[in-house]
Amino acid sequence: MGRLICLSNRIPTGANPSGGLVVALGDVLSETGGIWIGTSGEIAEKPDTCLREIEGGPFKRFCFDLTEEEQENYYAGYSNSVLWPLFHGRTDLMEIHQDYLNTYKQVNRRIAKLIAPMIQPDDRIWVHDFHLLPLAYELRVLGLQNPIGFFLHTPFPGPISMQALPNGREICQWLSNYDLVGLQAERDVRACLASMVEIGEGSDLGNGFIHLSPRQCRIAAFPIGIDTAEFTELAEREIAKLPSGILKPNRNLMIGVDRLDYSKGVPHRFRAFGEFLERHEEWHRHVSLLQISPPTREGVQAYDDIREETEHLSGRINGQYADIQWAPIRFINRPIPREVLAGLYRAAQVALVTPLMDGMNLVAKEFVAAQNPDDPGVLILSQFAGAAEQMTEALLVNPHDTEQMATSMLTALMMSRGERRERHRALLDGLTRQDVHWWSNAFLTALG
Ligand code: UDP
Repeated sequence: MGRLICLSNRIPTGANPSGGLVVALGDVLSETGGIWIGTSGEIAEKPDTCLREIEGGPFKRFCFDLTEEEQENYYAGYSNSVLWPLFHGRTDLMEIHQDYLNTYKQVNRRIAKLIAPMIQPDDRIWVHDFHLLPLAYELRVLGLQNPIGFFLHTPFPGPISMQALPNGREICQWLSNYDLVGLQAERDVRACLASMVEIGEGSDLGNGFIHLSPRQCRIAAFPIGIDTAEFTELAEREIAKLPSGILKPNRNLMIGVDRLDYSKGVPHRFRAFGEFLERHEEWHRHVSLLQISPPTREGVQAYDDIREETEHLSGRINGQYADIQWAPIRFINRPIPREVLAGLYRAAQVALVTPLMDGMNLVAKEFVAAQNPDDPGVLILSQFAGAAEQMTEALLVNPHDTEQMATSMLTALMMSRGERRERHRALLDGLTRQDVHWWSNAFLTALG
């Protein structure tokens, strides 16, 4: 079997890179003598003309630097201020600039030229995420015939949203240069097929196949999983290390963990919690919400706005309801290490995973994996997280419906142990069957 060549915007760094994706692909990369390629995270004066090998680690890694202009236009610009909002149903936040698009294409062309010389005829190539949509197209221009797969970690927009993008048709053409386009959820497959036909003017050949002259590609859902067994063990180990003040008798812990991104619906969640407190005085002092939200993409206006709104809401709710022994919301605007999160998930009675739009949402899966099966917590999950297609035994909510979310909080807090155990067993079965190893095998088998 040929090697697996993986590409993602950021190269996994450190001597022992962790994270589900790296674990899942690490085995295949090591077995096939494969390579992972991505940006270094460093800024160079001039564009790199060759790749740098990163020493150490279980598989070969090569990286390159971006220039300041590339960082601005390709990364912060086209990727994060055009594609990210478009792919998350926020066309109103898109910042359309020709410079962004030009640099985005230039960077992808440059990456194609950097990697083409190292690709052998029997290698398979797996490109990850929205930063690299044109990469297969650029590699085909250079004459590469290898199987190339693409996996999008975000949702995919339907034709109405795609119309808001001046180069929507071009995106469809880029995608058609992949042999396989993997998406998180069936809803994304439906949206993508519709966009490929209506915006890309392709023909739907059935069974997920699209013909968009001169190529044909297959579009299918491969919902990403986590390393379920590993996460359960981590949580079992870590709960014992939590500071003693966290777990108070007669006090329930609700937890939310989301990068402070507008797609995550944190303000909606806070408003629903405010509504819950308004309705249920009997729960005052008996429940608190721990919201962990590391900052992300700082300096972009939409992210500054969401931070201000979230701080304002948590301040207002605390001001209204807190007393000298209790604050309803603890809002942490810093990253928390994964292992601490694992212990916190296990200690919590309820998780609030209520994005307005999310590719998958791994926090939902980690929370379930972390529970004690004998006395598990309850997951409140937005119907707009990709995870909702698989995790139907969660309490599914519409994050726009404040009253319904407040009602679900009460349902979760009052749920009998029997019902909690049943729901958790079904959810954990799903996560065990479709873990991250299943995911990478399924994708690579389909790529052939
Ligand atoms: N995470 C973390 N520390 C934090 C916040 C999040 O390690 O302070 C991890 C979390 O455990 C999860 C990932 O970051 O594995 C977030 O993935 P998810 O799919 O939920 O959202 P994304 O940030 O990719 O949109």
